[in-house]
Amino acid sequence: ISPLSTSNNHVFKSKLPDIPINNHLPLHTYCFENLSAFADNPCLIVGSTGKSYSFAETHLICQRAAAGLAGLGIKKGDVIMILLQNCAEFVFSFMGASMIGAVTTTANPFYTSAEIFKQFKVSQAKIIITQSQYVDKLRDSNEKFPKIGEDFTVITVDDPPENCLHFSALSEANENQVRLVSIDPDDAVALPFSSGTTGLPKGVILTHKSLITSVAQQVDGENPNLYLKHDDVVLCVLPLFHIYSLNSVLLCSLRAGAAVLLMQKFEIRALLDFIQKYKVSVAPVVPPLVLSLAKNPLVAEFDLSSIRVVLSGAAPLGKDLEGALRSRVPQAILGQGYGMTEAGPVLSMCLAFAKQPFPTKSGSCGTVVRNAELKVIDPETGCALPRNQPGEICIRGSQIMKGYLNDVEATASTIDVEGWLHTGDIGYVDDDDEVFIVDRVKEIIKFKGFQVPPAELEDLLINHSCIADAAVVPQKDEVAGEVPVAFVVRTKGFELTEEAVKEYIANQVVFYKRLHKVYFVHTIPKSPAGKILRKDLRAKLANPPSSL
Ligand code: AMP
Repeated sequence: ISPLSTSNNHVFKSKLPDIPINNHLPLHTYCFENLSAFADNPCLIVGSTGKSYSFAETHLICQRAAAGLAGLGIKKGDVIMILLQNCAEFVFSFMGASMIGAVTTTANPFYTSAEIFKQFKVSQAKIIITQSQYVDKLRDSNEKFPKIGEDFTVITVDDPPENCLHFSALSEANENQVRLVSIDPDDAVALPFSSGTTGLPKGVILTHKSLITSVAQQVDGENPNLYLKHDDVVLCVLPLFHIYSLNSVLLCSLRAGAAVLLMQKFEIRALLDFIQKYKVSVAPVVPPLVLSLAKNPLVAEFDLSSIRVVLSGAAPLGKDLEGALRSRVPQAILGQGYGMTEAGPVLSMCLAFAKQPFPTKSGSCGTVVRNAELKVIDPETGCALPRNQPGEICIRGSQIMKGYLNDVEATASTIDVEGWLHTGDIGYVDDDDEVFIVDRVKEIIKFKGFQVPPAELEDLLINHSCIADAAVVPQKDEVAGEVPVAFVVRTKGFELTEEAVKEYIANQVVFYKRLHKVYFVHTIPKSPAGKILRKDLRAKLANPPSSL
């Protein structure tokens, strides 16, 4: 990536002053730093059973998990994979790994065997912590998983299938046996996967320093962006394997002393019931969930008056939807956060959530977080643009990723020599320092906030013997935000139906990467350098000719 103008013009900062951040600490020490102030308060509440763990209990079990992982041979720098739906064991494993300097890669348990295997292989995970129902996917003979119990360890949080260990191997280990390791702020602690601005999913190296900085930017200081109180109950229905939930829900709550209400999966009646029963006060959500809360008639049967904050992120929230939700929870402050895995993830957040709130406009993603710089550049020239002019959003600060795992090239094309991370999002900053996202120049498709990397689907399509070429682009969708659709060139002389293509993909990917439509075309438009001209395909979808 070419170096950009070094001028300080048009660099945007938070309206709030910078704060001192203890980002030289290890992540677990920082998160539990204020533990004694709320040791007996509920820390984790398992919604389905009502079981609750205090902060002191949570900390203790994390220490035991650390000892257990070390006992299984996990050392500093080793990677463990968490393949779990939201549960307390997720938290114990992640924080336990941090305590021994290990790194956690989080994966979606609904992934197919092939998808899990790719991440397992690239991250070189030594242990997988999962639920017994997913273990078969780790034995799939097509994917060259090594042998469970011999070459790698599988731990299940419920009854362990053959050759697997039960989670008690971690949770009942002797906490006194944790040996302190020295952790450098630049050591990795989390390794979520993201395709970033282009290509296949890559391991995003988030260090102790990046995550502490990001959490501090949200909840530390006199007037934090996201003011969480000790008696808050924070809804954790978004999957913890995504950095939004891991960071802004779990880590922020641990730091601030708020309780986390764990919900395994989204189901509207159970969600409403939990909000009412546990008096949820802070609800981090994604736009499709806002849609349910705004439109589902069941909502009227429940008391949602405990909610004081609704934070929406991961995808754009339309003004109409925001308005519809406002009428359902009139007492709550609604606002957006804007994040990207590589950015640690939060770039900007609505300041209406602050202790002394600022007025914010509908549709805005708030202002850039403290201790960070944001600029908007002309995607062609790289020059920083003034207020109100849309361009590519770039962010700089200690919270951004260290880089992509084993991918110097992708790292260099995302973080430039001046330390600016290029998001691939198009947006602008208005006269009140508020950030608005208006478009995306990167490839990624977002289905209900989940990443669908077109390159991954294109790779699979091109591998089909009847397909000569293919391109995958997003199509707008009222419920999911966007859905993936494919343009396919058939190999000469071969027959292929839309259903056959859809089924071929559906057999290999998690549900949200499935193709919603297949258009057969004669050629895929490409630049002279061979890059797919996605803009042209997106334009075709917006104004379909009759032949489409
Ligand atoms: P992920 O890395 O999965 O968190 O995806 C990051 C991308 O999601 C961003 O680069 C944006 O394209 C999109 N995104 C996240 N938050 C918002 C938001 N509030 N409004 C619009 N797009 C968003």
